[in-house]
Amino acid sequence: MAEKKTKAMSELTWRDMRFGNVFTEPGSATRYKTGDWRSERPIVDKEKCNKCGLCWLYCPDGAITPLEDGYYEPDLYFCKGCGICLQVCPKKAIAMIEEEENE
Ligand code: SF4
Ligand code: SF4
Repeated sequence: MAEKKTKAMSELTWRDMRFGNVFTEPGSATRYKTGDWRSERPIVDKEKCNKCGLCWLYCPDGAITPLEDGYYEPDLYFCKGCGICLQVCPKKAIAMIEEEENE
């Protein structure tokens, strides 16, 4: 019986990195409710919003949804509360509030 040769770390390529395949498959991220990780949530003040879409563009989780009326709304199922949308909003139309404050 042939003995299986173990590769040295320096010989490994990405094709040998099979560990992650055990837990994930393509497209699986949508199943995870990452909003549960959040301690703060963004709220949008439509009175200040100019519908520029920068919050939608910069959200690292794609958790800002464009609405039919041109405004944008955080998708709280996926929003992790990172606050980047607040940082990039040129009109200061986004505020972060503690989760407990809006329960
Ligand atoms: S707080 Fe972060 S994850 Fe949530 S909508 Fe804003 S940018 Fe996206
Ligand atoms: S970045 Fe601010 S002003 Fe622009 S669409 Fe988002 S909430 Fe409105």
